[in-house]
Amino acid sequence: MKIYNESEIWFVTGSQHLYGTEALKQVALNSQKVVESLDKSAHIPAKIVWKQLFTTPEEITKFFQEANSNPLCMGIVAWMHTFSPSKMWINGLKTLEKPLLDLQTQCNQDIPYDSIDMDFMNLNQTAHGGREFGFICSRMGIKRKVLVGFYEDKSIQKEIGTWVRACAGRNESKQLKVARLGDNMREVAVTEGDKVEAQIAFGFSVNGYGLGDVVAFINKISDQEVDALVKIYHQDYKIKEEFLKDKKFTTNLRNEAKTELGLRAFLKDKNCMAFTTTFEDLHGLNQLPGLAVQRLMADGYGFGAEGDWKTAALLRISKVMDLGLEGGTSFMEDYTYHFDTKDEKVLGSHMLEICPTIANAKPSLEIHPLGIGGKDDPLRLVFEVDKGEGINISMMDMGNRFRLLINQVEVVKPEKMPKLPVARVLWKTMPDMQTGIKSWIYAGGSHHTVFSKALNISHYQDWAEMMGAELVVIDSKTELQSFKEKLQFNDLYYALKK
Ligand code: MN
Repeated sequence: MKIYNESEIWFVTGSQHLYGTEALKQVALNSQKVVESLDKSAHIPAKIVWKQLFTTPEEITKFFQEANSNPLCMGIVAWMHTFSPSKMWINGLKTLEKPLLDLQTQCNQDIPYDSIDMDFMNLNQTAHGGREFGFICSRMGIKRKVLVGFYEDKSIQKEIGTWVRACAGRNESKQLKVARLGDNMREVAVTEGDKVEAQIAFGFSVNGYGLGDVVAFINKISDQEVDALVKIYHQDYKIKEEFLKDKKFTTNLRNEAKTELGLRAFLKDKNCMAFTTTFEDLHGLNQLPGLAVQRLMADGYGFGAEGDWKTAALLRISKVMDLGLEGGTSFMEDYTYHFDTKDEKVLGSHMLEICPTIANAKPSLEIHPLGIGGKDDPLRLVFEVDKGEGINISMMDMGNRFRLLINQVEVVKPEKMPKLPVARVLWKTMPDMQTGIKSWIYAGGSHHTVFSKALNISHYQDWAEMMGAELVVIDSKTELQSFKEKLQFNDLYYALKK
């Protein structure tokens, strides 16, 4: 939770001098009370900091300059406790560089019918002051999230928490470095894209390294370091008797441990929190890293197979957004369909690299041959995933913009697949198999995704909006014809926007 403990959300309260000193004192006390409650909420991961009451344009403009330049500030929550004439906010809002949440709340949940008088009305008028602030934001085209409700309600605190997580995702997006080990899988289109444009749009930078750069780090790892890590492998995972007696298992496990340690040292040295590999470029490695990649993902690293840097970046950003949440998030690939019309499903997996944060039990550490790559048999963690709600999200370069595509899925009970030597998950696509998959294909969705049981569509909606990125949603309400029209509308929107 370090990322959230080291950052703040700044809370500002708008008012004006019209009401007199006594009323303003009360407004300040009330807004401090609101901040205290939000800061204590278990649903909001970052610290909420009360800033001040704003009653003049000079104060407001100065505040936005400070918020923009202070790296501690991830985002701003603005609450108009009373009426706050919004021409005062124009010059400040013009400079806004941080995400903004426009909170329509009140210190009181209910109207006190028996005692309400004009003093009460003047003090508690978000319903009317909030509209003045909303107007200027809309007139100026200010991107923001609008939330409405009593500040102590769990539902609004959850929504604020989701937005705070998106703020952290935005921060990570702007500083992330992705190491591309080897290039793209040859002739594959969807994993390619414009890395310069991606950096302009999202902030993360993607740079290539030769495998030799990593191998140099691997070669520096000592036998003692390998011994220690192999011991951890034996503690953390189930290992079948047949593997324990297998010499190849022991040898390749040591190779994998050395690769993991070298890869960690390399990524630390390059300050990269995401990376890609490709089975077509493994010079100097004995085997395609499987276990090593799975363990790095579990520690928060983003990963994309076959050179897929967009999914690697998206996974790292997702790992920041899901910190402290239950459920897990992994690299994923739509693999095989189950076309039984009474029980239609998709099998998600990859040839090795699924993150064990989504596992339903202690993973099994196994060694099996791998048909592609022409290298030695790789180690991998094999496990299943429990039923529950989930999502798949992918990012594609559409030529004139990046498209984020998300599909709500229902993860179902695992089936026994004794001969499948990889981690796997079975899900039903929303709203149904036909509509879900047709929509995904029409939208150009990738076979690689980020799969999450911890995050939901709202996290990505908030994050995409902050990044100014296109997001298309396939959920339980999606209807194919209007989905296709939405894609047409978006094509037109982005053509005109350019
Ligand atoms: Mn793949």
